[in-house]
Amino acid sequence: MWATAKTQVSLRGSGQSEARAAGALLVGGAELVALSLALPHPGGANAAEMIVTATAMALAGVLCLAFYARIPLPATHLILAATAAATGLVTFQSGVAAGVYGTIFVWSMLISAYYFSRRVAAAHLVWILIVYGLALAIVPSTAGYSPLTRWLFTAISLTVVMALTNRIVAHRAQADQRARRFFDLSHDMLSTMDREGRCVEVNGAWKQLLGYGSDELQGRMLLELTHPDDHRRALAAAAELFKGAESVGLESRVRAKDGSWHWLRSSSAFAPEDGLVYTRSTDVTELRRIEAEREELLEEVESLARSDALTGLPNRRALDEQMPREMARARRSQSPLCLAIVDIDHFKLYNDSQGHLAGDVALRECAVAWDSVLRGEDTIVRFGGEEFVVVIPDCIEQAAEIVERLREATPQGQTCSAGLACWDFTETIDELIGRADAALYEAKAGGRDRLVHTSS
Ligand code: GH3
Ligand code: MG
Ligand code: MG
Repeated sequence: MWATAKTQVSLRGSGQSEARAAGALLVGGAELVALSLALPHPGGANAAEMIVTATAMALAGVLCLAFYARIPLPATHLILAATAAATGLVTFQSGVAAGVYGTIFVWSMLISAYYFSRRVAAAHLVWILIVYGLALAIVPSTAGYSPLTRWLFTAISLTVVMALTNRIVAHRAQADQRARRFFDLSHDMLSTMDREGRCVEVNGAWKQLLGYGSDELQGRMLLELTHPDDHRRALAAAAELFKGAESVGLESRVRAKDGSWHWLRSSSAFAPEDGLVYTRSTDVTELRRIEAEREELLEEVESLARSDALTGLPNRRALDEQMPREMARARRSQSPLCLAIVDIDHFKLYNDSQGHLAGDVALRECAVAWDSVLRGEDTIVRFGGEEFVVVIPDCIEQAAEIVERLREATPQGQTCSAGLACWDFTETIDELIGRADAALYEAKAGGRDRLVHTSS
């Protein structure tokens, strides 16, 4: 009961919370009356009347609590006032110690000042003092003071108690209000959910960004809005949180009211004291799109950096990166690795006679023709100018055949020379290339249009 009433503090003044508080007040009053009956009290006290009053109070309170949303607020206060009057009169009439009576009313003042708006609490105070005055008139005081003195004493103490409580409450309400302002002003999406994952409250940013109002989501499982592919990660994050992690981050897709998916970057913390998970989320859909675009561009730039603009073949840079990998693989599997340098014969002459642009076309045609006759595992690279490097793994004898096949595929009107070397598993890349280059030089010196195969 206390917890129910206390959660209403931040909503103080709203009709429903006042109705609930009234219910809680009555139930609490009944508990106190029942407690007073259990304590020893002077002879002559009419316990039966007190029991009836306490039961009536409890019933009225339970009804108010159960149907607070449907009972109109004035009716709730009427019930509260009637019960206060009945309790006061019966308490006095029954002869139970006046101390108990005072306790009930001080307590009742505290609660009404705590949970009700100042106006309602003041009305409640006035009403209780009227009832008290009537009670004193009906059953004159036996405590040695005149009824007026007793009334004044009670009235002053109740008013002071109420004023103090009200002040404390006002301070708390201000703090609550400040927190609520931040909650409502935040452009980040803020939410709380219970241990089961049901939404308790979301702030206005949810409406702006995803289209949901707080009342639409209250009580709904937030996982329902999460993309099925992200469920496993969301549940793992929640498990981590309940295991005691201070805060847990998650990036997941959440469905907006219009059906579109939004990427939310969230961080959550669990507060064991109220059993709620507090989450702050930002919409990173656009950011992720830009990031993906950037990555795509980077990939494109990287692939461009490794290919030759004229022929589209991998370039020397790509070869520099590929060779260490090929060598490591060959060493691991103890399989051969050969490298050939192919150079178009008298290309300068071709350029001079046909023009540079025709030379470009010839280079492109050579690249296409040569590439098409290689095996899948071979790589041809434009090494520079009209020189190409062919990497031929996993064979030795066949390597020469492959290079010859390539030479035969050279487009009409051109010939080329080649130097072939097989790696000896110890030399560096430059040394291997150097040997292939020397073989090429030999081929050129020997009259061109031929392959020279060097052995290590
Ligand atoms: P060799 O038979 O000894 O190889 O003689 P070569 O004329 O082919 O060799 P050289 O190294 O003297 O000349 C290579 C020529 O390749 C010179 C250069 O103009 C031409 N060349 C290099 N890159 C390109 C290019 O991208 N496009 C064109 N059209 N020509 C190029
Ligand atoms: Mg040449
Ligand atoms: Mg050359």
